[in-house]
Amino acid sequence: MIAVGDALAHVCEAARVLDTQRVGLDAALGRVAAEDVVSGRAVPGAANSAMDGFAVRHADLGTPPARLRIAAVEPAGTVVSTPVAAGTAVKLFTGSVIPPGADTVVRVEDTEERDGTVVVRVAPARGANVRAAGEDVAPGDVVVAAGTVLGPADVGVLASVGRATVLVHQRPRVAILSTGSELVEVDEPPGPGQVVNSNAYTLAAAVREAGADALVLPLVRDRRDEIDARLADALRADVVLTSGGVSVGELDLVKDALATRGVEQVFWKVAQKPGKPLAFGRLGGRLVFGLPGNPVSALVCFYVYVRPALRRMQGHQRIHLPWVPATLARATRKARGLTEFVRVRLADGADGPVATPVASQSSGVLTGLGSGAALLVGPAGEDELRAGVRYPTILLGAGALERDSAAF
Ligand code: AMP
Ligand code: MG
Repeated sequence: MIAVGDALAHVCEAARVLDTQRVGLDAALGRVAAEDVVSGRAVPGAANSAMDGFAVRHADLGTPPARLRIAAVEPAGTVVSTPVAAGTAVKLFTGSVIPPGADTVVRVEDTEERDGTVVVRVAPARGANVRAAGEDVAPGDVVVAAGTVLGPADVGVLASVGRATVLVHQRPRVAILSTGSELVEVDEPPGPGQVVNSNAYTLAAAVREAGADALVLPLVRDRRDEIDARLADALRADVVLTSGGVSVGELDLVKDALATRGVEQVFWKVAQKPGKPLAFGRLGGRLVFGLPGNPVSALVCFYVYVRPALRRMQGHQRIHLPWVPATLARATRKARGLTEFVRVRLADGADGPVATPVASQSSGVLTGLGSGAALLVGPAGEDELRAGVRYPTILLGAGALERDSAAF
């Protein structure tokens, strides 16, 4: 049996960043850039107005009021290329290019327009309301560095410099193979002793949430020939998740089947609850996680071990779920020697988040991990977690922290 920290270190060490692919900007959100993108352009391309108003030569304003002749009007998308002569102004709008000769924009609110002239009542500072060319991006700037997780602004910046595609790391393809003779598909009513294959859905959703592609294979019974045949398909993916059949029961055939396929076992059994029977192996660059069948065990193992691997493969630097220290609301017994992931709900307390364990900590009670749940980490060395003590608590989604209000 291996400690959780060591098990996670093995997984992270085995996960390699995948190759790259070029994607269009509409598919770039959330992907990790695999190139430094250098702009060939300035943005904005030319000095332009930050206001609706009049482009003027500051020297013409003298002591206001000043009266200038309106030499031209420059609506958005047009350009006045004749220089602004002394004593004249060009009427323009937010984003209009500053005509040659002008150095300042007077806001329309500080003017009065009359008979082809403009009276400037208030003189702004020289250069006021002029946005410089290249204020956002200068030619040669790295606008997106390799390793950037592309957010909406990054995607917009790429567009603004005329890059319609970007090189990113591939998403891992993850095969999901559920094993168990008791399993039926979601649209079959379960007979006595039968269970709906919920793990396939849980895991596929978790895979997608982690940014990877899920490939759900048809379920197999606890028979070596069925498991062997399906594993051959599964091992074409970058990552294989099996569920069920990894504990010490007679029918736990997955480990042997993996070994026959040449999968090198890195560890089996982790000093944790839930999820003790977790197995992990590799076949070349492929990773194989033998997840326990219990629905909670499978998902907790996914969050703690599989998700970081999938993130690393996509090129992410931050691969773990966020956690906060949370104060345990009531004492909870745990098994000494095992790290325990206690399912809790968080509430705002005077001294930060307070964690209340959910009623059932059974590894079969998946509802306890539903939206808003968090995992409080009980250290292996203790046999009781004490009320009023802070423990690291893994947030499983934005909903785990109670607060939902505007910040202003
Ligand atoms: P196992 O790890 O195969 O011993 O399974 C442990 C428990 O998890 C049993 O109660 C199974 O019925 C349940 N289980 C196994 N596989 C699944 C699955 N795909 N979906 C839902 N429950 C499962
Ligand atoms: Mg089973």
